[in-house]
Amino acid sequence: MSDDGLPPLREVIAAHGLNANKALGQNFLFDLNLTRRIARSAAPLDGFTIIEVGPGPGGLTRALLAEGATHVVAIERDRRALPALAEIEAAYPGRLEVIEGDALAVDLTRHIKGPVKIVANLPYNVATPLLIGWLTQEPWPPWFASLTLMFQKEVAERIVAKAGEDAYGRLSVISQYRCEAKKLFDVNRSAFTPPPKVTSSIVQLVPRAKCEPECALNALERVTAAGFGQRRKMLRQSLKAVFPNPEDVLVSLGLDPTARAETLTVSDFARLAQKL
Ligand code: SAM
Repeated sequence: MSDDGLPPLREVIAAHGLNANKALGQNFLFDLNLTRRIARSAAPLDGFTIIEVGPGPGGLTRALLAEGATHVVAIERDRRALPALAEIEAAYPGRLEVIEGDALAVDLTRHIKGPVKIVANLPYNVATPLLIGWLTQEPWPPWFASLTLMFQKEVAERIVAKAGEDAYGRLSVISQYRCEAKKLFDVNRSAFTPPPKVTSSIVQLVPRAKCEPECALNALERVTAAGFGQRRKMLRQSLKAVFPNPEDVLVSLGLDPTARAETLTVSDFARLAQKL
């Protein structure tokens, strides 16, 4: 028994026949110390509804409840996990709502009461589309106070990379334009069952109250797509996809037309987007 009175996760998996399904990105965490560490990194949880994508057998769900989340809404696509989650609901009466469905399709805003945080050990196959969906919410600031998410380390590094770093690209610009993004800690592959091929990392994104300099998000997306789509080319060339005369635009902003996209800061991209 764990201190929540529920059986250890290995027993839960065996009892419900939850052998991992690769197509659903299932790599489970059994170590409740680790899941509690992830839950604590999203603190405070008290007073918040926590949306969890992909609870699976419920290791992180249990940690979120044990660490004091007022209410957890968990969206799971694999119906085999539902009986295990029902046991957690019974142990924490009135605090867990399980929704069977695809997180990419469910309107999460319909399930929220009061302030919300999103916390998830994401299925890798849908992690980036889910993140982009959350980052491109309108209006901004959005309906969630923070995102605390597990990604493959390589994706985590792209989210937090700064101008000039190898991992810097479109995902870095959109993430950091809209949020303060930081990598909290790595999680070794051996912590998962079955272990994935690569190391994972927990990233936290906190929406900026005001995104500056102010620009239309679709303009920012077009400029970064043009710049990083041809990242080896000079900006005066790569930005021809969006400006008739990129050299003039770059010079007017005090930017070097012979530089490459990876040298521009998030704020430089936003200033370029303002010109669109
Ligand atoms: N939270 C559990 C843990 O930490 O052990 C499981 C994490 S596992 C990496 C990802 C979970 O997301 C699986 O339970 C999988 O069935 C679920 N999943 C995959 N695609 C999904 C989707 N589109 N919507 C909701 N859940 C999904």
